[in-house]
Formats: sequence, C-alpha cells, structure tokens
Amino acid sequence: MIITGEALIGGVAVKGTGSPVRAYNPSLQQPMEPEFHAVDFDQIDQACRLADAAFDTFRALSDEKRAVFLETIGEQIMALGDVLVERVMAETGLPRARIEGERGRTVGQLKLFANLLREGSWNDVRIDKALPDRAPPRPDLRMRMIGLGPVAVFAASNFPLAFSVAGGDTASALAAGCPVVLKAHSAHPGTSELVGRAVVKAVELCGLPAGVFALLTGSGNGIGQELVRHPAIKAVGFTGSRSGGTALMAVAAARPVPIPVYAEMSSINPVFLMPRALAARAEDIAGAFAGSLVLGVGQMCTNPGLVIGIAGPELDRFANAAAQALAGGAACAMLSPGIAGSFQRGVAQLAEHADVKTLALAPQAEGKGAPALFVTSGAAFLSQHALSEEVFGPASLLVACKDMAELRQIAESLEGQLTATLQLDDGDLDEAHKLLPVLERKAGRILANGFPTGVEVCSAMVHGGPFPSTSDGRSTSVGTGAIVRFLRPVSYQNLSQALLPEVLRDNGPVVWRRREGELTRN
Ligand code: NAP
Repeated sequence: MIITGEALIGGVAVKGTGSPVRAYNPSLQQPMEPEFHAVDFDQIDQACRLADAAFDTFRALSDEKRAVFLETIGEQIMALGDVLVERVMAETGLPRARIEGERGRTVGQLKLFANLLREGSWNDVRIDKALPDRAPPRPDLRMRMIGLGPVAVFAASNFPLAFSVAGGDTASALAAGCPVVLKAHSAHPGTSELVGRAVVKAVELCGLPAGVFALLTGSGNGIGQELVRHPAIKAVGFTGSRSGGTALMAVAAARPVPIPVYAEMSSINPVFLMPRALAARAEDIAGAFAGSLVLGVGQMCTNPGLVIGIAGPELDRFANAAAQALAGGAACAMLSPGIAGSFQRGVAQLAEHADVKTLALAPQAEGKGAPALFVTSGAAFLSQHALSEEVFGPASLLVACKDMAELRQIAESLEGQLTATLQLDDGDLDEAHKLLPVLERKAGRILANGFPTGVEVCSAMVHGGPFPSTSDGRSTSVGTGAIVRFLRPVSYQNLSQALLPEVLRDNGPVVWRRREGELTRN
C-alpha cells in the first residue's frame, strides 16, 4: 500500500489544504517522503458532521456486527504486513521486535473489545419490573448503556500502534458505538495513514456508513482545538503532554456544551524501596530497575522516574549498582526531535541543580536519549515541586529519605500517578500496610516486587490515575474498562416490549442482567 500523504474523510483520501509537514526519521535524522498537509477547518467540520450522521446507524448495529468490525480492522492491519512494520520503525526509531509486539497488542486489543461485545456485560442491563400492587405502584424500569456520540481521539507519539490510530481509545470508542475522528500524531503520519486506510477498508467491508471513522492530518494546535470545539464531538481521548492535555480540557470546558476529556498526561511512577527488601537484594532490584528505565528509550508513560528509599549503606548499594548498570548505556534515537530536546533539557536541569547529585550520566547526543540517574535528599524533594516533574525518557531521580516518616511524607506529597510500586519483603509488611492507603489515593495501579513498564491488556487493568496522570481518575485507557468512558446510561420507564431496545426485552439476547438487583445471565 502506498502512502499518499492524505487525510481520510468520508471513506476517501483527501489532501489537506493547510501547511505542509513531513515525517522525520529519527535514526537517520532526516525528513521522509511524502509531504502531508494539515486539514483545514472545513475538512474538520466535514469529518465531524459525517461522524454525527453515522452515529445512530452505527450504535444500532448488533453487538455481533460491531465485534466483527473490530476484528476486521485487526485483520486489515495484519494484511499491511511488513510495509507497516518498516514505516513505523523508520518514523519512530523503535526496533522491529518492539513494533511487531505492539502490532500484536493492537490487534489483541481489538479482539478483546470484540469479545466484550459478544459477552454483553458492557450493556450493564438492569431490570426492575413494575410492582402495580405496591403503594405507591412501581413503574417498569429498565436501564442500559449507549454510546456518547462521535469521539475525537488524539494519537500518542510513544505507542505508534497501540495508542494511536487503531489503539485503545479508538477500539473502546468504536466498541461503545461511537464514530471516531482521529487526530493523527505528527511524529508518525505515514504509519497513521496506513492504519487509517486499514480502518477505512474495514468500514467498507462491513458495509458501515463512511462517517464511522476519519483520519485528520497535520501539525498545529489549531486542528486539535477546532476538533474538540466541534458541536458534533461528544468526548475526547488523548495521550500526550500535560500542556497539550490541559489545553484541550480547557477548550472542552469552554464549549457551550462542555464534554468529557479523557487525557493521559504525566506520571513519574514512584518506586518505594522498603528497608528489608533493600537489605536483602539491593543489587537485584537495581538491575531490574535499570532494565525498566531504559525500555523503549524510557519513552513509556509508566517509566520509573522516581525511586524513594531510606538513606544508608543499603540505599548506597542500590545507587551504585543502578549507576553502574546505566552509566555505560548507549544514546538511542528518541521518537522525535521535540521529545529528545525536552528530555535533554530536563536532564541538564537536574544535572545543574544545586540540591541534586549526578549518579550516572551516559553521553547524550543530538536527537537521542541516554540513561541518567540522579539523587537528592527527602528534604530537598519535599521543598521543590520542580523535582517531581516528568522528564520523559530514560532518566530517574533517587530520593534518599532520613526515615520512614519522611518516606511516607513524600508519598503524601506526590501528584496523581499511573502507578506506584513497592519493593518489599515479608519484614516490610507493617510499613507497607501504612503506605497502602496513601498509594491508593495517589495511583491507578499498585505493584509489588515488579516494575511498572509493561501494561497488560485485560479486564482487571487500570491504566489511569488521579490528575495529572490523567484528567479523570475514574477511568482507565487500557483494558475492557476503557469502554465506560464513552458510554452513558439511559433508563426506560413503562416502554412496551415492542418499543424497548432488544437487549432490554423479556426475550432479549443472553447477557448479564441485574434483575431486581440480582445479577443473572439470561
Ligand atoms: P503532545 O505534544 O501533547 O502532542 C499530542 C497530540 O496533541 C498531538 O497530536 C499534538 O499535535 C496535539 N497537541 C499538543 N498540544 C496541543 C494543544 N495545546 N492544543 C491542541 N492540540 C495539541 O505530546 P507528544 O508530542 O506525544 O510528546 C510531547 C511530550 O509529552 C513528551 O516529551 C512527554 O513529556 C509527554 N508525553 C507523555 C506521555 C505519557 O504517557 N505520560 C506520552 C507521550 C508524551 P501535533 O501533532 O501537531 O504536535
């Protein structure tokens, strides 16, 4: 399949009329063909209107038909073969094994939502039948979930497949019956077009209205903001920077009809080194930590950017082993010059900070990111908010606390996080018990004796957390729970069987139902 540099609106490829932008090969440090043009506001309007027009038809499809649609997208992505893998590698600098794995994860995600649709629990059916003899009589009440309407999805730079055009936000929105208008990330436009074409092909093969999916090209804040402002858009999914996410939250809140924004933004994923675990296995923990820190050149939302322990010989053992593992690390191409630039600025600020000591700093290079590890005291960390800001890339800050009370104080001081990790042994359980309620308030996922990179796609996963890790800590962007973001409940009172949606009828399909409060599958 040839990449033409076009947007995809109404099932056809159209050239944007705005400013040109090219993909950039971060490994070769050179621009790539072809030229993409930013869509203009009329094209954004057209995509949103078509999505609006497609909404009722799309959400009225049976669960089975929407499941087949999701699976067909997966098949079409796989059918792109090596053309896709090579384009992603060229646009991101990520290695083949990572891209192939991510492609598998993307297709697996689509299948997961297809299975969820077939199993039916997403409808959240509740039935409280009429009680005519009760005083006062109770009407017949039945509830189910429906899609919110067209969703604007902003693809992430750091997962060019799994959090991009056909990634988790798109899969969960489509599963919910919501058409998707996708803002392609300007760091991988060719990848976006290829996957976008696969989705458009699936729309065609499944006989769906063309407005179910659109891909918008181009760079510049105006495109995303106009998209979020459009009255047809009813929710937003976003992964990226804190500044981008909060800007879009402000646009959504200022609309005449405000809409929810589900933005995943910034997280430093604290790792707490509990004393007994540190005494028993400081070097092993350090080795595993270093591996997690450099994974994907540190460009993971769950990268362990903060490590907290009690100052002393055990923490020194950890610091020395981690520094040794990281100091010789190679500088590797980062996703984009912008991301590399902001990583190097963050590293330089830490290296020059009066209260921070450098433990390891592998030589940096233009457009690349090399591992870096710093240490500061608990008191310095607590008094300077700047030390808790995300440095996106393979850099981490170790905080040496004077005692457990200060370690707990640091946990209390943290902003919302995607994850919090405990390295602990049996002898640490009492202290861990004390810390757990704090971590529950701060993070979406709490881990023991592991590292937060590597996010399993399954029902029990939460990839979310309080602000600023996300804009709405009640949700997850990974796993089947992600569908809830794009649904809302509708209750039907005294509607006849003929008028009720099929899933709420007495002889409706077999799904989980809450009848008179009791959960049954019939
Ligand atoms: P980004 O700059 O926030 O861009 C994400 C998307 O939002 C892009 O499509 C971008 O448009 C658009 N956008 C950005 N700011 C906007 C604004 N003010 N108004 C409207 N649209 C806006 O994120 P990024 O390029 O992926 O990475 C930049 C930084 O984000 C990284 O250095 C890192 O700090 C952080 N990041 C964090 C995570 C995480 O999971 N925590 C993941 C990725 C990135 P364009 O395509 O035109 O740029």
